[in-house]
Amino acid sequence: MNCKSIFSLFIALVSSAFVISQDANTKVIFVIADGISADVIEKLETPNLDLIAGKEGYTRAYVGGEKGGYSESPTISAVGYNSLLTGTWANKHNVWGNEIKDPNYNYWTIFRYVNEYRPELTTAIFSTWLDNRTKLVGENLINNGTFKLDYHFDGFEKDVVNFPHDDDSLYIHKIDEHVVSEASKVIKESAPDLTWVYLQYTDDMGHRYGDSERFYDAVKIMDDQMGRLWDAVQYRTKKYNENWQVWITTDHGRTEKDGKGHGGQSDRERSAWMLTNEKKLNGHFKEGLPGIVDIIPTILTTFNINPKKEQAWELDGIPLTHEASLANARAIVRGSELKLTWNSLQSNDEISIWIATTNNFADGGTDNYKLMTKVDASLEKAVIDISEMPSEFYKVVLSGKYNAINTWANKK
Ligand SMILES: [Zn+2]
Repeated sequence: MNCKSIFSLFIALVSSAFVISQDANTKVIFVIADGISADVIEKLETPNLDLIAGKEGYTRAYVGGEKGGYSESPTISAVGYNSLLTGTWANKHNVWGNEIKDPNYNYWTIFRYVNEYRPELTTAIFSTWLDNRTKLVGENLINNGTFKLDYHFDGFEKDVVNFPHDDDSLYIHKIDEHVVSEASKVIKESAPDLTWVYLQYTDDMGHRYGDSERFYDAVKIMDDQMGRLWDAVQYRTKKYNENWQVWITTDHGRTEKDGKGHGGQSDRERSAWMLTNEKKLNGHFKEGLPGIVDIIPTILTTFNINPKKEQAWELDGIPLTHEASLANARAIVRGSELKLTWNSLQSNDEISIWIATTNNFADGGTDNYKLMTKVDASLEKAVIDISEMPSEFYKVVLSGKYNAINTWANKK
């Protein structure tokens, strides 16, 4: 081996060690602050959120799937949480209300992805609400991979001794405080690799008082809580040289009239927001309108998890960091033609268009996709002849260099 080869080998070893150590030090925390529309978060002073987001880390976002389309999802809490957790809308994850009657665990949550692909990573939930762990994440369920979280701190809404219920939901505020204190402590001491913090008080005050000082005070309390969480993250970053990616978002907006309700498809109910300390944000975050379903594809990328093709092709969101090829696919059937549109995020990209006429994935099976054609991504539209594939239902995947997106079309 000559000097040059030894040098190359040395560089290769150093860089692979660098990649591994970077990876081992990467931690992700995501927070849902319940039921705060974008106009409210923008008009109030939120110094801690501003500090975390820096100059470019805040964007408006949307919830509720495709309004009037096949993926339209109620702007209801558990529906929104599960859209975040699975990176899919309700037509797939099948949570349509807070009763969480029958989640479809074939659409994995981020916790299951981590458990299956990176079992060495540690996971944590800090939450007012027990169902977040037991039903949505579906801990320890046989039909959901039977995995456990490393840390959990939740269920206090059932503890009426320490948190006696009162008409003004002060007990929910106290639980949120308890949850944030414990999350900060565990982050400082143990630094789980993936953490979900869920806070409820803002939604309770919204329901009770609507657009009012009481609701705004709850948002300011949440901001203060995020400051304490951020202190814990800063402590780990400085002391242990860890790389923390923080996401803070909401699960739905509120009604136009008085801000008391939610669940429908008005602009304000669909108006969400997200913020992050991550600096490597792509055009979809900076110039587009991200959806709540984009956070999980981003975290998968952060953890170097590449789901198998069948799973990746079901994700309704795309990563908000790194390069991305395309977003926002739409398809309609007109006679024997399928008309497709999308947004291209690259100047030179070719996309492959795949179609299946089954949805076996929803039942744990696989779908046979047929490659229909390849086109220049920058065209942002295509017309596909489907006369050889008569069907009432089409599942369409557009696959670019960096990511794939999917959409459904029903024959009307
Ligand atoms: Zn909610």
